[in-house]
Amino acid sequence: MTNANKNTIELYIHIPFCVKKCFYCDFLSFRALASDHEAYVDQLVREIRARGAFCQELTVATVFIGGGTPTVMEPELIRRIMEAVGENFTLEPDAEITIEANPGTLLYNKLPVYHDCGINRLSLGLQSADNEELKNLGRVHSFEEFLKSYQSARMSGFTNISVDLMSGIPGQTLESWKNTLKKVTMLKPEHISAYSLIIEEGTPFWDQYGPGAGRVKAGAAFPLPDEDTENRIYHLTRDFLRDMGYNRYEISNYAKPGKECRHNIGYWTEVSYLGLGLGASSYMDGCRFSNEKDMRRYLSLDLEHDCGEGLRELAGPVEQLSREARMEEFMFLGLRMTRGVSEMDFVRLFGVKMDTVYGEKIRRLMANGLLKKDGVWLSLTEWGMDVSNFVLSEFLLS
Ligand code: SF4
Repeated sequence: MTNANKNTIELYIHIPFCVKKCFYCDFLSFRALASDHEAYVDQLVREIRARGAFCQELTVATVFIGGGTPTVMEPELIRRIMEAVGENFTLEPDAEITIEANPGTLLYNKLPVYHDCGINRLSLGLQSADNEELKNLGRVHSFEEFLKSYQSARMSGFTNISVDLMSGIPGQTLESWKNTLKKVTMLKPEHISAYSLIIEEGTPFWDQYGPGAGRVKAGAAFPLPDEDTENRIYHLTRDFLRDMGYNRYEISNYAKPGKECRHNIGYWTEVSYLGLGLGASSYMDGCRFSNEKDMRRYLSLDLEHDCGEGLRELAGPVEQLSREARMEEFMFLGLRMTRGVSEMDFVRLFGVKMDTVYGEKIRRLMANGLLKKDGVWLSLTEWGMDVSNFVLSEFLLS
């Protein structure tokens, strides 16, 4: 399920375009003209070529084309990106290749092109099966449009589909959430992500629901679910999806057996990843760096000639993570998965036993019923998952 091979990397390709901005979104995404899409892909292809030249010794286990909304672009642009990846990187024969898609943008003619150029996994952003709730989020699609996209994807040969859902959204009730879960599981997607809404600063939701505004008062048009409802939603999700045959393999991610998202598991298990495109982040050999976030500057970089220099400018400062910071990340991210972290992986990565660094904390959390051990695997208990923020914060070293 993981890829711990040192010569293996993952690719993340960022497409920053959307039809319009959702009310809760703080991702690097915006509306743009079709001519901007083309100029962006021209530069992205140059970046892929330039980066690929430095990655000849590496093989790519997964590719994730995310955003933004990659499917807002003409499908031929996605084909050009995939061709550039294929020509400049060595893909594993069974590489997992995902594209993020928004139902409102997924016309039938696009899907066969994606399938044809090697994309074998589709991640559909639905969020809710309730059209009123979708409107409250500022989404551009209805549930009916999602259904059409889903069925078109199946007809185009996609056998690995993930659906993103969001709980804790304005106007949501326990009943409406249950209805969303029912409608989605009836379709039998291979994978479901169920995250809670986070109110991010700088978004319209921050002004409406952020700490300054407080929770929208009783009687307001679309209040957020109260804490009790959120708790019940959390437990319902876990139990309902388990009963429908989905394995909870991470705090917010559920999959049919063998359909866990390999790309995300790589993020959670210290696999190196290379981000390509505007603002994309990378983590290679214990170093972190992020691409230029300003579109005008990104497009003006010379990635065609003198590649080394252009790439240095693109990536900006490189942060070398200390051994302690890497240990913390290993524990934070690894413990989010239900299988937990392996003591053997810890020794392999850091040359020291997990017990030497965290022994006392682990014993205390185990005595309190928050962690459990199974052979070399250390993981959260059900209760530990419920209060994961607290448990994970215990693994800070500084
Ligand atoms: S579709 Fe996704 S990336 Fe685009 S605005 Fe909405 S939440 Fe943000």
